[in-house]
Amino acid sequence: MNKRIGIIGSGTAGLQLAYSLKNDFDVTLHHYEEPNEIRRGRIQSTQVHFRPTLDREQRFHMPGADAAPSIQTIHFSMGQQKLFVGKLTGEAASVDQRMAFSKAMEDLTQQGVSLRKGRVARNEMETLAESYELLIDATGKSGPLFPFPVEDELTPFHTPQRKCIVGYFTGVSPVEPKGISITVYPGAGEMFEIPALTEQGAVTILFIEALPDGMLDAFKGVRTAPDFEQRMKSLLQEHFPEIYGRVDLARFSLVDEEAYLQTAITPVIRRPYLMQNGTLVLGCGDSVFLADPITGQGCNTASYCAERLFDTLMAHKESPWDEKVGVDYWSSVHPYVKAVTEWTNAMTGPLPEHVVQMLMLAAADQQMADRIAHWFEKPQNAHNAFFHS
Ligand SMILES: Cc1cc2nc3c(=O)[nH]c(=O)nc-3n(C[C@H](O)[C@H](O)[C@H](O)COP(=O)(O)OP(=O)(O)OC[C@H]3O[C@@H](n4cnc5c(N)ncnc54)[C@H](O)[C@@H]3O)c2cc1C
Repeated sequence: MNKRIGIIGSGTAGLQLAYSLKNDFDVTLHHYEEPNEIRRGRIQSTQVHFRPTLDREQRFHMPGADAAPSIQTIHFSMGQQKLFVGKLTGEAASVDQRMAFSKAMEDLTQQGVSLRKGRVARNEMETLAESYELLIDATGKSGPLFPFPVEDELTPFHTPQRKCIVGYFTGVSPVEPKGISITVYPGAGEMFEIPALTEQGAVTILFIEALPDGMLDAFKGVRTAPDFEQRMKSLLQEHFPEIYGRVDLARFSLVDEEAYLQTAITPVIRRPYLMQNGTLVLGCGDSVFLADPITGQGCNTASYCAERLFDTLMAHKESPWDEKVGVDYWSSVHPYVKAVTEWTNAMTGPLPEHVVQMLMLAAADQQMADRIAHWFEKPQNAHNAFFHS
């Protein structure tokens, strides 16, 4: 009989895990919203999946992102000065998670994976642990459900470093060559412009990372979609004239009533394994590796760790699942998690002088511009540039 695995959470990590594990194990995916509720619900992310993540999704035969607008480059500006356009090694894609998650859940059901509806509560943990040989906590930033210990060395902050303000808009023509545009206002925050696919077609995501009480922290008290649109329009006009110049005012609006979000993340890294009443419990994704979205790495980290988790379980397929499996999983992802976490945390502070010089150099050196773009595909390179050069 195949070993039984319970996955709690049907987001980026939980879904990739379900796809990868379903052929070798008896998988149950616990979720608390039906696909249609997710489709009609609020956006939660901007979800750029860089090439390595798209390759992993292909490896596990997940629904593709082929119809998403092309992301081939990273445009970088400091204030109103455009510095460079770096080329990614492969195309990236952003597909509205509401669309991607609901589609994947329907597809998994058709493929015979057992989906169980219901918000899993902390007091159910003991009973649940008895039903499986392994439980995976993939509950995202609202988790974890289990008391995974905090890794103090990788958890320097106790409050959010940014306010995250996101809207999915129609009526903004994309940058050329197609890609993500990043504008940094030192001391105030960042604006990210991301082409994405939604159920209603292509949109432009405008994503502000605002330092609390700074110039970009301009959405206090905004509670409705029309207010959000109005505030974004004023902000673009005042501080982002290049983007404002690409706005068609007659068409500028949120793609739907739920296509905006204000949130703030306190980053925290936890050791992702423990034993519960003799059952191994592993954490994957934001439940254990939660970072500020400033480097756009959360989905990519969740996907990387989900693949490592799959490889670890396959290596131990025939042996008992105990703490040793947890130790092996943590050892295999630790270098990556450390690199992406330290880089991301550093990005929320003032940029180190040598990094500012690299950005300036990239304005006249295409190889340097491309190298900086590759940081987003391979965060270990970014970590090296920040801490070892
Ligand atoms: C503003 C913003 C922008 C971002 N932009 C990017 C980006 O561009 N690129 C990138 O890589 N990352 C980005 N991220 C981060 C990314 O969205 C997350 O890191 C990623 O979705 C984490 O995946 P996950 O599976 O851990 O969690 P999620 O995708 O959040 O999934 C968690 C799932 O668990 C379910 N769940 C929770 N509790 C329970 C429970 N008790 N019982 C049952 N189910 C439960 C939830 O319903 C959800 O479906 C961004 C985040 C934010 C906030």
